Amino acid sequence: MGNYLHLKDVIAKYYIRDGNRVVFRNNTSLNQMALKMWDKLHFSEIDSSVLSKVINGTRLFTFKQLKTFCDILELSKKERRSLFNALIKDKLGEMNATENTDNIHLALAKISYSSHQNTIKLSNKSKRLFEEIMAIIAPRLNQKSKLGVKYSASCYYHFITKGVYKYNSFVENKFANFDVAIPICDFNKTVKGLENNCKCGYHLALYGIIKEYLKKRIFTHERIQNKLNRWVSFFFPKYAALSYLENLDTLSSDSKLLLKELRASI
Ligand SMILES: [Zn+2]
Repeated sequence: MGNYLHLKDVIAKYYIRDGNRVVFRNNTSLNQMALKMWDKLHFSEIDSSVLSKVINGTRLFTFKQLKTFCDILELSKKERRSLFNALIKDKLGEMNATENTDNIHLALAKISYSSHQNTIKLSNKSKRLFEEIMAIIAPRLNQKSKLGVKYSASCYYHFITKGVYKYNSFVENKFANFDVAIPICDFNKTVKGLENNCKCGYHLALYGIIKEYLKKRIFTHERIQNKLNRWVSFFFPKYAALSYLENLDTLSSDSKLLLKELRASI
């Protein structure tokens, strides 16, 4: 994939080497940084050997790990963007995609889709409660949406192609200011003009959804936002159930168990 900055090159801006020691911008050692990440990632996924491999370029962060890394260093949006872009390109490189891939958006989308649709390992008790919660916050699989497609994995790809499409000015002018916060990316609100918005797979799919609703000219901004939230829950069921539980005032013992199992699976 030609010359570009790999993740390890961009990460190199955030630490110095002092002899054998690595010191991050926030004055933490490799071990301390790994420990902070481990803590934020709910005691899983990372340790100092993983972090060491990432900065040496023999392993890649997951999107979630990179987000945590950025949060700890309190990086600006611009800094985050360059790290995420490098990670995406490295992941594409791993898949043997090339820069002139006809549909680079789809390639990106595939990466983020596959990494977030892992099966959820839950005990039987939790599984039942999880399904009850999903019935409240998200549409059922294969249920028909008002956009004429069923809620399914394939509509994700359908909406990505809509997301990159240029609509008429009525739609484009109303596109700004939707809350598109998702767990894997730090971009939160749409702004006018596709070029000014995040172009990760999930965000493109969400733009496609917004624009298709706008095109119908019958939904208010608020109503589209509500529908969008349900699509997000559909795409990120674990996270959606987690935030639903975290926002409850009181938790039953079953809810506490589910919460624990969800955290462990993220
Ligand atoms: Zn994004």
